[in-house]
Amino acid sequence: MNSKPLLPRPITGEEALRWLKKGNQRYVKNLLESDKLENNLNLVEEQDPFAIILGCSDARVPVEIIFDQGLGDLFVIRVAGNIVAPSQIGSIEFAVEKFGTRLVVVLGHSNCGAVTACVDALINPEKYYTPNLQSIVDRIRPSVYNLHELATATGVDIDAQELVDRSISANVRMSVSQLKHGSRLLEDMYRSGELLIVGAEYDITTGVVEFLED
Ligand SMILES: [Zn+2]
Repeated sequence: MNSKPLLPRPITGEEALRWLKKGNQRYVKNLLESDKLENNLNLVEEQDPFAIILGCSDARVPVEIIFDQGLGDLFVIRVAGNIVAPSQIGSIEFAVEKFGTRLVVVLGHSNCGAVTACVDALINPEKYYTPNLQSIVDRIRPSVYNLHELATATGVDIDAQELVDRSISANVRMSVSQLKHGSRLLEDMYRSGELLIVGAEYDITTGVVEFLED
């Protein structure tokens, strides 16, 4: 993958806001000059997403772009560490019931900052996070803790980076499991085969999304 030099970035909030406004103007102009506007108008009344993606907030993992999908195609929930909390479950229930969407993908990714923060917290117990960030770290913790405990118990020498890499997969699998069992609606639909819930990992270096086996 080619790495391109970064363009000058806005420094202040006002500059950033101007960038966003200009970007949106380009987007609107592009809409007006192509048949995208017609496609857009078709979505005014309703959406019909064919997949639900629970992904990480990481700026390098924009879901529509990496899956090359357009407006209205994906119902996307993004939260640091692609964790499962009640609001994520509620969002998925909404899409499943309202739109009849039948696929949920939990999408983790390499170099995940949220998982790294959790590993840091385990290795450095004195590390302080705000209560809100801590609530995210706490949801990732079981995946990291179990791997760390296993390595310690079996005498395996595992460094922090390897712990992060393995924890990313474990965290995806834990979110998948929590979705399968975290709600009566989702659990019933999963058990009856009406709803597919799968895990996947995006490799930031290669751009490849690898779907995890059960
Ligand atoms: Zn992440």
